[in-house]
Amino acid sequence: MEECIFCKIVKGDIPSKKVYEDDMVLGFEDINPAAPVHVLVIPKNHIKSLNEVSDEDSKIISHIFSVSKEIAKKLNISESGYRIVMNCGEDGGQEVPHIHFHIIGGRNLSWPPG
Ligand code: 5GP
Ligand code: ZN
Repeated sequence: MEECIFCKIVKGDIPSKKVYEDDMVLGFEDINPAAPVHVLVIPKNHIKSLNEVSDEDSKIISHIFSVSKEIAKKLNISESGYRIVMNCGEDGGQEVPHIHFHIIGGRNLSWPPG
């Protein structure tokens, strides 16, 4: 996926502020944070959205939740609380077509979202 900005971030062609990396996933700060802590966690392989997640990929998705818990701990929002969001498709507000989880925290978040 040569055009995909998140694939470019994985390759290092676009710089990012990394907070976590292993062979399967990457966590980095969102460029336009919605809260004091706003990290995106993505699989390194290109998956367009939740709609394209295969049974095989589901291992990566569960791994992302484990990683997200560790990122929350590292960024000191485990106790204060945080939100994990995945937008899917146009109505869901997905702007980047490479699946990603937002970890948002560091302030009290309103609910329901807009
Ligand atoms: P979506 O709306 O697709 O769920 O979220 C995409 C997120 O990616 C947005 O919060 C946006 O700020 C972030 N984003 C878009 N381009 C870049 C970029 O080049 N670098 C980083 N770090 N974040 C980006
Ligand atoms: Zn991609």
